[in-house]
Amino acid sequence: MEMKNIAPVELKQLSNSEMGITWSDGHQSVYPVYFLRINCRCALCVDEITGKGRILTEKIPNDVHPIEVSSVGRYALRITWSDGHSTGIYTFEHLRRLCQCQQCRQKNIRV
Ligand SMILES: [Zn+2]
Repeated sequence: MEMKNIAPVELKQLSNSEMGITWSDGHQSVYPVYFLRINCRCALCVDEITGKGRILTEKIPNDVHPIEVSSVGRYALRITWSDGHSTGIYTFEHLRRLCQCQQCRQKNIRV
């Protein structure tokens, strides 16, 4: 997917547990917020050397949710979470790959 000019144009809290992003190409993404939290790629959550996840999912509350979302340059969003995690930066490309709308889930079969 060519990501060069694709960026979020609107962020919406769809429910207590879901966030939506409308993209500049018109695509509407849906994300369970818990899913976004456990897919954080910051140095605390992913080992930089091995690339292995370090998140202890049992330590993340089921009702974890974003407290604040801000943009970082023109390439990423920073999400501050209710569990105190605030170093996570989600690049647009990563976010778009994580899209959980039905259309994308059928395309990217993940393990
Ligand atoms: Zn993180």
